Amino acid sequence: MKSGFISVVGRANVGKSTLMAKILGEKISIISNKAQTTRDKIQIIYNDEESQIIFIDTPGIQTPSNKLQEKLFEFSEESLKESDIVTFVVDNSLEIGRLDKEIIAMLERIRLPKILVINKVDLLREDELDQIKEKYQAMDMFDQIIGISALEDKNVKAYIEAIKSMLDEGPAYYDRDMITDKSERFIVSEIIREKALNNLSEEVPHGIAVRIDNFKERENKRLIDIDATIIVERNSHKEIVIGKGGSMVKKIGMEARKEIETFLDSKVNLKLWVKVEKDWRKKEKMVDRFGYK
Ligand code: GDP
Ligand code: MG
Repeated sequence: MKSGFISVVGRANVGKSTLMAKILGEKISIISNKAQTTRDKIQIIYNDEESQIIFIDTPGIQTPSNKLQEKLFEFSEESLKESDIVTFVVDNSLEIGRLDKEIIAMLERIRLPKILVINKVDLLREDELDQIKEKYQAMDMFDQIIGISALEDKNVKAYIEAIKSMLDEGPAYYDRDMITDKSERFIVSEIIREKALNNLSEEVPHGIAVRIDNFKERENKRLIDIDATIIVERNSHKEIVIGKGGSMVKKIGMEARKEIETFLDSKVNLKLWVKVEKDWRKKEKMVDRFGYK
């Protein structure tokens, strides 16, 4: 069979998580409009009769500005080196922006086969897509260039086929029925964080983390009790996350519960708390404690 590791890089919002969710058949979809949703790297495992492809969804590549950002940056370089093929995802922008140029400069130094995925072609006319393709072709560094729409599931199959054509024969690295290497707890915490980020205003998101305090399946019942704490940096943030009469945390909890139930395929009783831990982002130890290592 064909098998291998594909790292997926690209700046925030180009649609990496949407593409990963599509490949997984929507089993989990950790997707957000805000940057840095996928903080830890998540391996997503695609299986079919003739292949096992492990995708490493790297966090957005950004200029390090504090301890957490530095760690995110390390992840990106690290996962590139571990992989067999690099996929660089860009969106429908007609011009190549500054961040994309920085990523391209980094990719140039890495001697691995590369696929360029131009996502969001549903927002492009054909001549515009050709225009973007030509710009990247001229760089002469991509083995394949594929236009897709992750949202509309257009050409996602062609992308998988392109990967298969480039991979060598290899073993199954994971069980054939696994879809991710992350624990259920971790995925659950990411779903809660994602729902919080989606609902909160700009000043709060980067300062939140989610800790799972309790995760227990009730005997003889298809019901899982989950207690989780949303950790914020400031008292003012705590107020925002809780919302008027608890309305915000309630909304986050409802949206998260729905997605967690789909993911775990079980009824879920989710209880959320909000707690302040000052400047947690700046403290290395705490960054490690929350598992972003
Ligand atoms: P990431 O930061 O690269 O992981 O990007 P996300 O997957 O979180 O997607 C960012 C935004 O782009 C979301 O609002 C998606 O719905 C949207 N998006 C993703 N793929 C497509 C696409 O093919 N077409 C369009 N129009 N929007 C997309
Ligand atoms: Mg993402």
